[in-house]
Amino acid sequence: MTADIAGCKAALAHLDLDDNPATVRQKSRDFFWYSPPLKARMDHLTADFVVAPKSEAEVVAALAAAYAHDVPVTTRGAGTGNYGQAMPLSGGMILHTKAMTAVKEIGPGRVRVEAGAIIADVDRETRAQSGQELRLHPSTYHTASIGGFIAGGSGGVGSIRWGGLRDAGNILKLRLVTMEAEPRVIELTGDAIHKASHAYGVNGIITEVEMPLAPAYEWIDLLVGFDAWEDANRYASDMAHQDGLLLKELATVAAPAPHAYFLRHKPFIPEGAHVAIATVADHALDAALAVTARHKAARVLFRSDRDWTEGLPPGFELAWNHTTLRALRVDPKITYLQVLYAGDPVAKLSEMQRLFGDEVPGHAEWVRFNGAVVAMGLPLVRYTTEARLEEIMALHEAHGCPIFNPHRYTLEEGGMKQSDPVQLAFKRETDPKGLLNPGKMIAWDDPDYDFDKGGFYLFPGMTAVE
Ligand SMILES: Cc1cc2nc3c(=O)[nH]c(=O)nc-3n(C[C@H](O)[C@H](O)[C@H](O)COP(=O)(O)OP(=O)(O)OC[C@H]3O[C@@H](n4cnc5c(N)ncnc54)[C@H](O)[C@@H]3O)c2cc1C
Repeated sequence: MTADIAGCKAALAHLDLDDNPATVRQKSRDFFWYSPPLKARMDHLTADFVVAPKSEAEVVAALAAAYAHDVPVTTRGAGTGNYGQAMPLSGGMILHTKAMTAVKEIGPGRVRVEAGAIIADVDRETRAQSGQELRLHPSTYHTASIGGFIAGGSGGVGSIRWGGLRDAGNILKLRLVTMEAEPRVIELTGDAIHKASHAYGVNGIITEVEMPLAPAYEWIDLLVGFDAWEDANRYASDMAHQDGLLLKELATVAAPAPHAYFLRHKPFIPEGAHVAIATVADHALDAALAVTARHKAARVLFRSDRDWTEGLPPGFELAWNHTTLRALRVDPKITYLQVLYAGDPVAKLSEMQRLFGDEVPGHAEWVRFNGAVVAMGLPLVRYTTEARLEEIMALHEAHGCPIFNPHRYTLEEGGMKQSDPVQLAFKRETDPKGLLNPGKMIAWDDPDYDFDKGGFYLFPGMTAVE
């Protein structure tokens, strides 16, 4: 199957189409460079052209032309994903959703919006019109699209209260377009949503989403300092288990990272402090401070209601992968992991700190997972070699801390290390030629792939380095 790029471009000349190599290359990249192994393998990749449809009808036209001309299509929201999910492995078209941003309907507990809408813009609209806000958002709130969050993200700010995107009720409806001779528009609700959520756009282009809303509050950030990592995590665990306390974000970050990397907040953070970041609803502030006061080792370093000044980022922009981003800005050699601290997270976090010391400074995001409080880690790693990175991950797993590998671009290797039969079956229906985001679903290319053998899956169709 050879892609007829020129034929496809000619068929789509009536749409917003860009084939300037510099901007196409820019739109072919995401935040894959957080990962040295991904950077080494993906830096050269670029698409042939970018199409930015203005409506679902234009998405249908773009996919019909791509299908007719055998052109691969990789969808791009804002390109803030960290695993190269939005990067075209074998060229073709970038379908950029930037012009599909309409908020279509707001009602009690729900909003219907086009997939390319930036998450903060959706919230601005729902807050203004109805006093409600999205339950969950990534820490890339100000830049990421809602469709990209659903197709490429997992959870984030709000997950301490609401769990993750995979939890029932956190996505209400998806509308998507298939990659066929005559593309169809399909609506997914209930469990069917997971056919296409967190599927990197390999089995349909999401054009519209319906998301649940919660009452909007003024949120207050607290930074609470501790001399001992274990005390910070004990405090976070206690806060997380307070059923009456309305929290939106809860994270712990081990020293030296808060003082060394949270540059704008540095004046508030003493050297050597381990920090808990808690975001609480304004009505819950007194209760949160009361719980904090029960922890003799806790010192409130910063309160946004008291200490905020122009230019300070919100607390969530110190958390999730913003912790990594802030560390990377100071030390470009840093990378990160994604870890589940199952069982007793406070004990596990201490155990990992003893095992790795300053090579892996701790960072935990406290969230609800299958109805229970857990700590999902995004610890920093002072990167040396790929072999050592693999060893660090293997040691985590050996100590009962499962890794969700952020140094892989495929759905399977970054997730449960097994194929998802539901997403695969759906892809057979929606993308019979396998043109949507090729190479991101191993099960499509190699159904017998052995996930236990380790190593790196290198998509055979990946454009070679020139
Ligand atoms: C500093 C930083 C912090 C982050 N924090 C978080 C966090 O807290 N939680 C979290 O989950 N992630 C986080 N991320 C990852 C990422 O920002 C989010 O997942 C974000 O929601 C992705 O949105 P996007 O619009 O940038 O998607 P993109 O990167 O453009 O796309 C993500 C994936 O979805 C596909 N896709 C995009 N739009 C569509 C569509 N309409 N239909 C079908 N497929 C589509 C793409 O092909 C790609 O595979 C973070 C990243 C950075 C750099």
